[in-house]
Amino acid sequence: MRAAGFRVSGRAARHPVRGVRQAVQSGRGLRSRRAVRSGIHPEARLDHPWAGNVVDLCPVGSLLSKDFLHKARAWELDKTASVCTGCSQGCNITLDTRDEVVVRVRPRPNLDINRYFICDHGRMHYRWMNRGDRIEAPLVRKDGALHATDWDEAFARVLAILRGASGKAVALVSPGASSEALAAAKRLLSGFTWTGAFQVVMGEEAPLAGVPNLALRAERAPNAKGAEQLGYTRDYAQALAAAKSAAVVLVLDEPDCPVETDGALIYAGTVLGEDAACRRADVVLPIANVAEEEGTFTNRDGRDQRYYQAKPAPGMAQPAAWVLGQLAQAMGLAEVQ
Ligand code: SF4
Repeated sequence: MRAAGFRVSGRAARHPVRGVRQAVQSGRGLRSRRAVRSGIHPEARLDHPWAGNVVDLCPVGSLLSKDFLHKARAWELDKTASVCTGCSQGCNITLDTRDEVVVRVRPRPNLDINRYFICDHGRMHYRWMNRGDRIEAPLVRKDGALHATDWDEAFARVLAILRGASGKAVALVSPGASSEALAAAKRLLSGFTWTGAFQVVMGEEAPLAGVPNLALRAERAPNAKGAEQLGYTRDYAQALAAAKSAAVVLVLDEPDCPVETDGALIYAGTVLGEDAACRRADVVLPIANVAEEEGTFTNRDGRDQRYYQAKPAPGMAQPAAWVLGQLAQAMGLAEVQ
């Protein structure tokens, strides 16, 4: 995100609201928008973690996002209410899609959570939603290799695994999965002695000056709180150790999970790398990502927020909550409270 070409003070450059006001005032002094664009002031770069908000705040449309430049006209976009997955703050966003591709993330006002702003990490954290290397069909292991199949055979294989196993089950889940998917995963394994865990990628905390309780949070996960409320723990190492001797291990959307087990391995995910440990799975279930499903995240303050489907899932992929819910229902298992 660059918003170069504006006469702004160093102080204003660190604050999006003051920054845009001063940039616009500077433009008036120079009398023309063209003059504003041509003035470069390298000593006052808008490069703090919330600088991209000047694009939304600029009242005359002079400040532009290079990332979005020439991608689409505003009237060509479909707009979907969503929740940012960049950290545990839970900022409300709009996903702009064109031809079923996410092309832009914009803040959606919520006075209790993000006011009118989003940070640059969240603003730019969307390209993964358009990944082309997705799992598009269920895979089952036959003669030592994974083969594409339909949902009926994949479900039958999972049900046979679950009905033929007993004892300990481990769920290694993503804190970016919806609460509905996490609840269904727990429900599916409720006939076992259950352990569920997640791990959170950590980063730098970056508050927005002047706005209480709004920061890019160190926890780069949208639903760690929701996972905890459902009984999943942060003791990922212990869960990985328990997985080795578990009868069944379910990995939910953790493509880099270093799982090892002597039991059956079920992987529900969006992607599967060439060297991924989940390549050893008995069954692979293709699931939708956050832009391709509806669901709920619980932010760090315990606020439940819905997000909505912005584009279709590729191939035969389905929302994880639906996949795991169907399996739990077929097992005759009750809803988890
Ligand atoms: S603060 Fe967190 S939730 Fe908000 S936009 Fe940034 S990364 Fe997304």
